[in-house]
Amino acid sequence: MQSVTNPTRSHSPRVLILGGTSEASELATQLAARADLTVISSFAGRVSQPRLPVGIVRVGGFGGVTGLISYLIDENIEVVIDATHPFASKISSNAELACKTLSVPLIALERPPWEPKEHDCWCAVPDVQAAASMVNHKRNRVFLSIGRQELGAFSNCEDAWFLVRAIDEPNEKLPANSKLILKRGPFHLNDEFQMLRDEFISLIVSKNSGGTATYSKIEAARALRIPVVMIDRPRKYNLPTLARPDDVLQKLGEFLQMTPDCAVYPTEKRYL
Ligand code: NAP
Repeated sequence: MQSVTNPTRSHSPRVLILGGTSEASELATQLAARADLTVISSFAGRVSQPRLPVGIVRVGGFGGVTGLISYLIDENIEVVIDATHPFASKISSNAELACKTLSVPLIALERPPWEPKEHDCWCAVPDVQAAASMVNHKRNRVFLSIGRQELGAFSNCEDAWFLVRAIDEPNEKLPANSKLILKRGPFHLNDEFQMLRDEFISLIVSKNSGGTATYSKIEAARALRIPVVMIDRPRKYNLPTLARPDDVLQKLGEFLQMTPDCAVYPTEKRYL
């Protein structure tokens, strides 16, 4: 097993942010402003025109856990921040294993899930397949708002009608009766109202992504009393997570023991 050593620092610490979320970009922007850190943002490359954060960016998979381990060693990464989407579970488990293998500190940011409020009518399901098996009835006009990667689960739903929204053209087969909208959030409440009304939507399928960028559909559903099939998150981590970018910055500071004037690396790395 290889180990990243912990020398007395003579260079600026190198931090890898696993991204693909607005929080990751926010962190990259804040950290890129610091001259005493080198920050690299990593994207999977799923979106054709990603909103790239300031600072250094790399795009594409690492090649599984072994590829990520090699990358962390080659790039002399000293802290990893996992700020990926709550439904991106593979990269998170890879990061957890790679960091544990190398004793590189890992800070995991996980935005809190949405919680149902008064007048919300949610049916929680464990995954997209369960959602697909629930919604396929002739009377249903479904707003399918789960991104594009797992749309294939609905391809055999021939009875319901679907309004599918994604950022890029889906690769997977769409349901027979469907209309595709290509649009990127954040989405505004009035626009969501208008769309749900115009399309006579009777049911929404959503991932429990949390955050604000796509929450307006949930608020609109509440006001219009439209039921939501809410897909639960996969289990991502075995380690404790932090809920806010500010918490991550604080934890990073603890790891790096930085003051405005100097940076002293902790004598012992800790696995968060
Ligand atoms: P995933 O299933 O966890 O990851 C699949 C593979 O994609 C990983 O094994 C890794 O490839 C690569 N990958 C994922 N995130 C990466 C990153 N930040 N940098 C480099 N490689 C990455 O993830 P996913 O659900 O396909 O999501 C892909 C990306 O889209 C994530 O970064 C996530 O933050 C973002 N995103 C996902 C969703 C969603 O609903 N899933 C929604 C919004 C944004 P290797 O094994 O080759 O390293």
